[in-house]
Amino acid sequence: MTEGVGARTNPTGENVSEMEPVIGLEIHAQLKTKTKLFCSCAIDPGALPNSNICEICTGQPGALPRMNEKAIELAAKAGLALGSKVNSESLFSRKNYFYPDLPNGFQTSQLDPPICEGGFMEIDTPAGPKTIRLNRIHLEDDAGKCVHDEKRGRTLVDLNRAGTPLIEIVTEPDLNSSTEAVEFLKKLHDLLVRLDVTEGRMEEGEFRCDVNVSLRPKGSETLGVRGEIKNLNSFRYAGQAIEYEIKRQTALYEQGQPVLQETLHFDPVKRETRTLRTKEEAHDYRYFPQPDLPPVRVSDELLAKLKNSMPATAEDTVKKLQAYDLREDLITLLMDRKGAVNYLDAAISHYDEPKKLAALMAEFLLPACQKADLAILDSPLGPSKLAKLAKLMDKGVVGRRAAQELFPLLFQSGGDPEQLAKERGLVQISDKGALLALAADVVARHPKEVSQYRSGQVKVLSFLVGKLMRESRGAADPKGAGEALIEAMKG
Ligand code: ADP
Ligand code: MG
Ligand code: ZN
Repeated sequence: MTEGVGARTNPTGENVSEMEPVIGLEIHAQLKTKTKLFCSCAIDPGALPNSNICEICTGQPGALPRMNEKAIELAAKAGLALGSKVNSESLFSRKNYFYPDLPNGFQTSQLDPPICEGGFMEIDTPAGPKTIRLNRIHLEDDAGKCVHDEKRGRTLVDLNRAGTPLIEIVTEPDLNSSTEAVEFLKKLHDLLVRLDVTEGRMEEGEFRCDVNVSLRPKGSETLGVRGEIKNLNSFRYAGQAIEYEIKRQTALYEQGQPVLQETLHFDPVKRETRTLRTKEEAHDYRYFPQPDLPPVRVSDELLAKLKNSMPATAEDTVKKLQAYDLREDLITLLMDRKGAVNYLDAAISHYDEPKKLAALMAEFLLPACQKADLAILDSPLGPSKLAKLAKLMDKGVVGRRAAQELFPLLFQSGGDPEQLAKERGLVQISDKGALLALAADVVARHPKEVSQYRSGQVKVLSFLVGKLMRESRGAADPKGAGEALIEAMKG
């Protein structure tokens, strides 16, 4: 990135080898509501152009917006999960600008106070965990879309998206590399999707961000002049845009040229940024209070309800799995697969052996679900049956090899493990008398190996166990088989 070798100075004598990137993000997440923020038009990205519009979302004179309560709830939920202060009262403002896909001539957004203030999220970095502070979360509506018809040289306007509810999450400039920024974005996306705050389909623009990038001498507290790259709708593009912007600004510093405050666009094909407008052309939005909407209210009751409905954080879940004493790779696997931890918890409620149950899931259940393209919680073999299988294995009724044979049958039928094991003759032979009989047979048929064993070559025991296992068609308990053979060879 910007790491230099040795001290380098630019023509103005500034040390450019010790510059560090500073990054702040503005993330737009589309809220998971059925209808728009101020009217009852449906939200449907697949609808025909201009089919989900009304007098409110097309800005007809005299039409009055009506607040979507669900959007308030989702914004507050995001704030709670991110440790923000959720304001009991916040206000909408009009952010004025002209654009063909903005029929009101203003965006309805929040300036002061927003619905949530402050907050933070922790990310993992090679140097350990790092806290990224949030500045604010506010509610706002989305604009429509301009559709450029290159062939006929015209631009069409589709207002289906106009009025779609968004939250904008603004971070403090606490990020210092593209890797950190991407890690933050992924974690935030993951959290908001898990909370059902957003659907988060990035290709639909339901989660997109602006990245602000500047450089400053390492250790300095003052912020450098920033470039702001607009509207990145993939983690990769966000990372690439930041990388490019750092390089571009580094080159400017090295040449002793000033970085200008600019708004830029990222071209993913050329992987470079292009100026959209400079500071001189910056918008003066002339925010003013939106007189058509009452304050946004979040009651104590709503906050309490939201707090209670908050699912465990990923951190808490990992801690719980660590308390089960599971291996890290197993924890990662369970965390990665939707529903896996819920399934495990349900199985544990039937048989309190987390490690054994998790191992069975990793070995059998998860691959089987993946192969059948089935959600884990929809598996015909439910948690109580898996628990029963684990119990049978612990009691020595079903051996490992038998379990391998049994599992696909159970997975298909969802039947009772014990009954199925009996039906298929997969019940393990652990009865001492039966094992001794098998052992006597093996000993009689392999006199050479037996005398080798007796002369001290104990390693041949595993060969004999193999023979016994084969004889029993895999049904013998391997541990008991070894013991029975030793006993038989004594005689
Ligand atoms: P605006 O809304 O005009 O883009 P803000 O002051 O609200 O400006 O900042 C937006 C984002 O830019 C925030 O995430 C903030 O942390 C970040 N930011 C502001 N100044 C800088 C800077 N000099 N370098 C990097 N990021 C910055
Ligand atoms: Mg901005
Ligand atoms: Zn509408």
